Amino acid sequence: MRGLPLHWKIVIGMALGILFGLLMTLFSCGKELVNDWIAPFGVIFIRLLKLIAIPLIFTSLVKGISDLKDISSFKHIGIRTVILYISTTIIAITIGLLLVNTIQPGEGMSRETVEQLTVTYASDETITSNIRAAITHEPKPLDFLVDMVPDNIFTAFGNNSLMLQVIFFSIIFGICMLLISHDKARPVSLLIDGLNEIILKMVNLIMQIAPFAVFALLAQIIANTDNMEILVKLLNYGMTVLLGLIAMIAFYVIVVYFYTGRSPKWFLSGIAPAQLLGFSTSSSAATLPVTMERVTDHLGVDNEVSSFVLPVGATVNMDGTSLYQAVAAVFIAQALHIPLDFGDQLTIVLTALLASIGSAAVPGAGMVMLVIVLESIGIPADKLAIGIALIFAIDRPLDMCRTVINITGDAMVSVVVGKSLGKLHPSDTPDQLNR
Ligand code: ASP
Repeated sequence: MRGLPLHWKIVIGMALGILFGLLMTLFSCGKELVNDWIAPFGVIFIRLLKLIAIPLIFTSLVKGISDLKDISSFKHIGIRTVILYISTTIIAITIGLLLVNTIQPGEGMSRETVEQLTVTYASDETITSNIRAAITHEPKPLDFLVDMVPDNIFTAFGNNSLMLQVIFFSIIFGICMLLISHDKARPVSLLIDGLNEIILKMVNLIMQIAPFAVFALLAQIIANTDNMEILVKLLNYGMTVLLGLIAMIAFYVIVVYFYTGRSPKWFLSGIAPAQLLGFSTSSSAATLPVTMERVTDHLGVDNEVSSFVLPVGATVNMDGTSLYQAVAAVFIAQALHIPLDFGDQLTIVLTALLASIGSAAVPGAGMVMLVIVLESIGIPADKLAIGIALIFAIDRPLDMCRTVINITGDAMVSVVVGKSLGKLHPSDTPDQLNR
């Protein structure tokens, strides 16, 4: 067990967690036992990861930018990253739309199933409060820009959901370090270097308990899933999303192979522990420390690139989420017999792009933002709750899968940006087909 690579240990932890969770469903007190005595260890692990997310974003972004030669290198990284993030998200949405329009998973939904799902879930507090939150916050087109700028840096640092504000501050801080004289910046540079090393060490230590933590997280998820029948009814929809997500993985490895000459095995095994953790935690933000470690140390992307591309990506680039939002929106319209024309499909592309940028990197965020996509294609307010209720039962498993894609997409963009700037180093993982 000792010499086993980390991702295998995590896989074993996950498998045992699933088995244990299933076993516990056989006992009447099983759910309670898991929730009281096992689940807290998963919660502790996620807390530890989130604890270091903000300091890590700050130190690595400031270090990444202030270590650059000059401001034009920053521009090169920034422009490439933004272009790649937007294009990969549009590709993801298009794949989702093509699949859902071809497979039409909502067409076969009987009225009874729609009714049954609505009765079961439409009054659920999570759904109603999500819809209330999304609707009462009447969105304006430039809201996302305004929300990015903090008015108090301590408030931003004190709230994990304001990561974009921390990124904004860190970028300006790093740029200003580049702009002042080297002598003045040096002491701050040394301090940030030291802090960054310490935080990375913390990531390393926390990861030692990952296999146990994923055991706890999966046991909890399985023990709390009580309506298997409904899951089966939603199989077509779930499979459509999954098919799209698998297509995205194929797309990533093809891009990596053709652009960098590195094999799919190299890319996927390099990023695997982050993917497994994303799957278990459903949070790109919580996984960020591990994604950074894998992309830098195992895929060989220069720190200069990964320390900018990844924190930004974790919060704004969500290919899996946007694909899911496109499929879910059309599925709901199909199930509720609301026709969508080509214009509606284009609206989905635009709103799913914005909604995925706006989705926080935490569990379930994609579903909250889905309300905005549904509204944009004219789903009436009284149907919103029914729509969300329809897909609610299998949202968690799909969230786990789309988070994996969100993370993999960020890693792919890091590798591509790294390669384009000559900052992709030979990595420690064998099996690379360097051309
Ligand atoms: N859980 C996803 C993430 O953190 C966001 C979502 O799709 O709900 O990446």
